Amino acid sequence: MKTVLITGASRGIGREIALAFAKDGCNIVINYHNSEKEAFDLAKKIENMGGRALVVQADVSKPDDAKMLVIKAMSVFGKIDVLVNNAGITLYKLLIDSSDEEIQNILATNLNSVIFISREVCKNMMQYDGGKIINISSKWGIVGGSGESVYSASKAGIIGFSKALAKEVGLSGINVNVVAPGVIETDMINNLSQEDKKVLESQITLGKIGKPQDVANVVKFLASDDANYITGQVVEVDGGWGV
Ligand code: NAP
Repeated sequence: MKTVLITGASRGIGREIALAFAKDGCNIVINYHNSEKEAFDLAKKIENMGGRALVVQADVSKPDDAKMLVIKAMSVFGKIDVLVNNAGITLYKLLIDSSDEEIQNILATNLNSVIFISREVCKNMMQYDGGKIINISSKWGIVGGSGESVYSASKAGIIGFSKALAKEVGLSGINVNVVAPGVIETDMINNLSQEDKKVLESQITLGKIGKPQDVANVVKFLASDDANYITGQVVEVDGGWGV
């Protein structure tokens, strides 16, 4: 039985990833920060499907919380087979209007968390038969988004980190890959008006905004044995936006 730890699994893409792995009978570690009810509702849903779920409240932007999250997961399930670093926040602001705290919070939540949690999980995976790490970046981490420069920096950082880590842990049987979504229908894009969404859709080759399931399917593939010879890669799940 595989154990999958997903950060930020209470809502949006993380929730859908949790459900996708639960359908395969995996043990799921659901991390949340503020959305307690959503996290426990998800755990109940997974248990009703016959699976096992552990809910862990942790602010992954804090290194001590990040460590505690991994320790709790290991104390219940022993080993972690798949880590999905998904938790993220965004900030729609010009750089010149962004405060020190806002900048630090974005980097700590989106990038530092990936580094701290991967470090703890790699120690665990190295003791067993390896494992799979999948980090959720963004299209903005590849091309940059105006008004989201710090977010873009955090997401680009994930790509550089993942490629380097893939080289560092490849001989230990650990695959590290990145999924870079385009525009996906979750709370994160609530700031977009219907008009904004129409403009975006006109720029997307497949003519529509993606669903959390579209991302979850690719994460599940990268975590499967079918992807054993794939590492250090960035898979864009964006409906062909900007090709
Ligand atoms: P979302 O619906 O806003 O959900 C964000 C999730 O991250 C929530 O479960 C939230 O938990 C969690 N989270 C935020 N800060 C956290 C913290 N400090 N500690 C622990 N968990 C935290 O966003 P989403 O669209 O699903 O985004 C998921 C990932 O995909 C993010 O990394 C995002 O950057 C990336 N992405 C999204 C899009 C898009 O268009 N939606 C595009 C590209 C990339 P609580 O609710 O419990 O606080």
